[in-house]
Parts: sequence; C-alpha cells; structure tokens
Amino acid sequence: MFDSLSDRLTGVFDRLRGRGALNEQDVREAMREVRIALLEADVALPVAREFINKVTEQAVGQQVLKSVTPGQQVVKIVNDELVAMLGGEDAVGLELEAKPPVVIMMVGLQGSGKTTSTAKLGRLIREKHGKKAMMASLDVNRPAAQEQLAVLGQQVDVATLPIVAGQQPVDIARRAMESAKLQAADVLLLDTAGRLHVDEALMAEMKAVASVAAPTEVLLVVDSLTGQDAVNVAQSFSGEIDLTGVILTRMDGDARGGAALSMRAVTGKPIKFAGTGEKLDAIEPFHPSRVANRILGMGDVVSLVERASQVVEKEDADRMAERMMKGQFDLNDLRTQLRQMQNMGGLGMLAGMLPGMKKAKAAMQQSGMDDGVLGRMDAIIGSMTPKERANPALLNAKRKRRVAAGSGTQVQDINRLLKMHQEMGKAMKQIKKMGGLKGLGALFG
Ligand code: GDP
Repeated sequence: MFDSLSDRLTGVFDRLRGRGALNEQDVREAMREVRIALLEADVALPVAREFINKVTEQAVGQQVLKSVTPGQQVVKIVNDELVAMLGGEDAVGLELEAKPPVVIMMVGLQGSGKTTSTAKLGRLIREKHGKKAMMASLDVNRPAAQEQLAVLGQQVDVATLPIVAGQQPVDIARRAMESAKLQAADVLLLDTAGRLHVDEALMAEMKAVASVAAPTEVLLVVDSLTGQDAVNVAQSFSGEIDLTGVILTRMDGDARGGAALSMRAVTGKPIKFAGTGEKLDAIEPFHPSRVANRILGMGDVVSLVERASQVVEKEDADRMAERMMKGQFDLNDLRTQLRQMQNMGGLGMLAGMLPGMKKAKAAMQQSGMDDGVLGRMDAIIGSMTPKERANPALLNAKRKRRVAAGSGTQVQDINRLLKMHQEMGKAMKQIKKMGGLKGLGALFG
C-alpha cells in the first residue's frame, strides 16, 4: 500500500531530519519535492497545491526553524495535514442504528469490486457488529451477477435474497425489503448494477431504487488503482445521489495513493473502508491517521497490534503496545512479533506496518534473504541467553559467534537482525516524539 509514494516522501524527510538547522529555503526545496511526489502519486493538482501551501505556511515559521528538531517538526506538520487531507483523525463508521432493516445501497461501476465489497460488509456486519445482515443483488445486466452474490453469501454465512428470474431492479428491491422485514434482518445490503461508464440509464436506475429503498447508507465502490478517475467517478455519482461514503478497493496493490489522498478533498465524502485483497475478510475501516503514518514510513503500529491481537492473546498485545510506547522494545518482543508475522502472512504483508520494517526488508532482500528469514531470526534469538535478549548490547563478537553456531547461521545474520531491531527502535522513538500513538491508549484503555 502506497509503497512508491511512501518511498519518495521518506527519502525527502530523511534528508530533512538529517540536518541540524533548517532555513526557509531548505523547507521550500523539500516542499517542492513533496509536491512532485504527490503529483506522481496521481493526487489531484488543486489538492496537492493546497496541501503544500498549508504545510509551507506553517513550516517556515520561526518557531519551527528555531526549534531543536526542525526536521522533525516539519514532518509532524506534514503528518497532521495528511490526516486532515484524508478526512480527519478517526474512521467514519457505518450508520447502523436507524430503524431496521437499515438499508445499505452499494453503487459503482462494473469491475470496481462492488459485489465482493458487499459480501465483505455483510460478513463484517455479522461478525463485528453482531447484527443480522441480508444481501440482495439488483444486477440484472451482468450475467450471473446474482448467482455470484449468492455464492459469496454462502461463504460469509450471510443470507441472500432468492433469485427470481426476469425480475427488474426496483421490484427486487421491494421484495428484498419485505423479505428483510419478515426475517427480522437488522441490515439489508443492496448490490446495485454497475455499468462500464457513468451513464444516464445507470443513474436513473440507481435513483429509482433509492426512492423505493430509502437507504441509510449509499456507499460508492471505486477502484483505487484508477487514481484520479476514481475521484472523477465519485464526483459524477455524488452529483446524482447523496453518497454517504466511499469504499476504495484494491488498496493492497495501490502503490501511488492518489485516489485515497484526493477523494475527501475533491468530493467531500469520507472514505469509510479500504478493500485490501480478494479474500472476503480483506476489508478495513479507513483510519486517516494510520494511513498517514503508513505513507510517512512510520508504520501502522495500531493496526498491527489490532491484527496481532486476533492472533495472539490480548494480554500479550497489551504488553507489547505498552513496551513499544515506552521505547522498551527488546529482542524478546521482536521474537514475539516475528512469530506473529509468520502467523499473519509473512514479511510482505507486514512491511510498511511496522516502523522501520520497510527499510530493514529492503536491506534483507538486497542481501538475498527471503521469507524463510523469519524462521532463521527466530532461531537466532532462540540461541541467545535471556540476558542477551533483554540487552542486545551485550552481544560482542565472541557471543555473536556462539549465537551463530547455535542457530546454524552466520555472524552477518546476527548483525542484520540487530540492525533491524535498532531501526525499529529508532522509528518508534520518532513516533513518540511526535506525540505518541494516538488511539493506542484508547484501544487498550
Ligand atoms: P463488481 O463488478 O464491481 O461487482 O466487481 P467484483 O466484486 O466482481 O470484483 C472484481 C474483481 O476484483 C474480483 O476478482 C475481486 O476478487 C477483485 N477485488 C475486489 N476487491 C478487491 C480488493 O480490495 N483487492 C483486490 N486485490 N482485489 C479485489
């Protein structure tokens, strides 16, 4: 997610932080680079321009330039403005408290991931919200679209409206409403038809369905890989119907991030969810602050800890989060995390979620290390004494040779692991300086 943008920005800010003093010219030069990075990421021009203006205005102030850590301050300003650009601190959730059945209407173009996202939401509503969901496909254009939703419904264990051949969308919507009431469903998800382009017929059908179903949520599904086109599609739809939010799919493959970054500013609509893969649990609430952290290469420790807590005991996750915040992250913690990484899908998935992990991963790949590296690192830490794990500084050349022999690795491997641990520690300190991980405290109260 956002890899190319993140690499660019991290480069700019590393250089900025690397210098002790900054003058106005340095800041302006860095902002020029940021602007280019944003435009290359396919961020809409006016959005990029306004962003740069806002950041520059604050960053060239004397308070920043005269401070002890000017580079750090600039990054903080960028971070805060990124969060604002992405829609503000917190994720905007679903409105599910209206009188049941609450209707969620899914709209969008064909191939955007609408049907998949419908099923993902159905699952989320059942699992996370503990509510009874029902789904109906109103797509009578695309062959087998209704059957597709029925199959997905079985996979996520959410009921779908039985298919009646030849029935038209508005009538299907009526039947779905009745059925949802009869079955006492809390939420009814309507997967409307898509077309290849925004056209009148599509809009007319969508409005007709909306007037029958009176949806509480109208969610537009767009493909993040289409960049500014996604934003244009959102503008076209929101001119026709009251969208309550956007679901950005294929964020897992989106290295640039232009759609995510421009969506809120251009359309005024919040991104409510991000689709992050083909699997039916690959959907995440869109948290602007976490996304900003990821973009700035500071990882997404909050999401990581959340994901980890699904794999490990909550107490472990609590302790880990607390130690991370206090900057007491030792090799025992690293080992726990390595094991969780293995459980959670390996290196690739996690790079970018842990601070400093991306650089470490790049360094490891350069030296030809693969995913089996997790197992080897685990073995290395396993060959250390408890004292060494708690205090890696103890590891002198002799001890390193012992650990290497014990784990069947080379001293180089030990050094790489220690370097990675250091990188992570540094990145965590940076986060702490910036005011810590908002949300972590709340998460674990
Ligand atoms: P629809 O025509 O809008 O209903 O599109 P579908 O829901 O049928 O999705 C089209 C394709 O995109 C399918 O192969 C999905 O598995 C895939 N897809 C949907 N969402 C995501 C996502 O978030 N990430 C990835 N990688 N693939 C997705």
